[in-house]
Amino acid sequence: TDTSVTVIGLGLMGQALAGAFLKAGHPTTVWNRTASKADHLVAAGARLAPTVGDALKASSLTIICLTDYQAVYELLGAGEAELDGTMLVNLTSGTSAQARQAARWAAQRGARYLDGAIMAVPPAIGTAEAVILHSGPQADFEEHKPALDALGTVTYLGADHGLASLYDVAGLVMMWSILNAWLQGTALLRTAGVDAATYAPFARQVAAVVAGWLPGYAEQIDSGSFPAEVSALETDARAMEHLIEESEAVGVNAELPRLIKAMADRAIAAGHGGEQYPVLIGEFGRPHAG
Ligand code: NDP
Repeated sequence: TDTSVTVIGLGLMGQALAGAFLKAGHPTTVWNRTASKADHLVAAGARLAPTVGDALKASSLTIICLTDYQAVYELLGAGEAELDGTMLVNLTSGTSAQARQAARWAAQRGARYLDGAIMAVPPAIGTAEAVILHSGPQADFEEHKPALDALGTVTYLGADHGLASLYDVAGLVMMWSILNAWLQGTALLRTAGVDAATYAPFARQVAAVVAGWLPGYAEQIDSGSFPAEVSALETDARAMEHLIEESEAVGVNAELPRLIKAMADRAIAAGHGGEQYPVLIGEFGRPHAG
């Protein structure tokens, strides 16, 4: 816990990151464009570096967490920031392409670089609930994991720097899809006077059952073979029609039901109606031409 750490960027997230390092006992150096955001961290024992260059030199590990990658380039690309020999962990959110480009950019300047993504809100940082994903050279991750552990549940995904960003968005689409499905059901049930709290435990149960299907369905996708073991896609499509009809009849939004059916219909038109649901990976795996 005595490894020194630098945190650059003290927005809502950066302040939480620096606070977690301090709490875990790491000597912590901080820097922010607006220096006043460091005040309470300094009161808690952090050292405020006078310049970015000084902040980078202060520790063997630097965490950077700014608004976006453009801000990272503006800040670290400026003349005073000497990156040679530094170890950067960039927890700024972005795309996989931005992460891979930043890794090349850092390597050209002699820095070691891990990209990361934070799947948590600032108050969760420092607790096991905060999942923080990392990708890049494994040896760099292993070396700095003991310090990074202060931030939450710290995970290594692989050598491709883009993986953290990809897992990040993959997690987000899971989250929004579950929430949207639940909201659709809630809107339907409210038309019959059933309140959201009554439906929520039922919805939670369905979500848990469906989540249990994922490993088996993943085997179908990975093997490229989709036998209809429990249900054929065309059977699903008939139930989708009920969902659309019901939504329209009771006057709730039917956009999501129509989208669900449109994708299944395309797969059926392509001859996959007798196969099982995960055959839709073909529809998800390419851009929508329409
Ligand atoms: P804030 O808006 O609170 O903070 C942004 C930070 O970036 C500030 O420190 C700001 O400095 C700095 N900054 C922006 N542009 C520049 C620049 N050109 N030069 C120097 N510094 C700059 O955002 P958050 O802290 O909430 O988010 C930071 C990152 O963390 C984002 O990528 C976000 O997606 C990610 N994240 C945030 C979560 C959250 O719940 N907040 C959850 C998961 C990820 P200044 O203070 O001077 O303006």
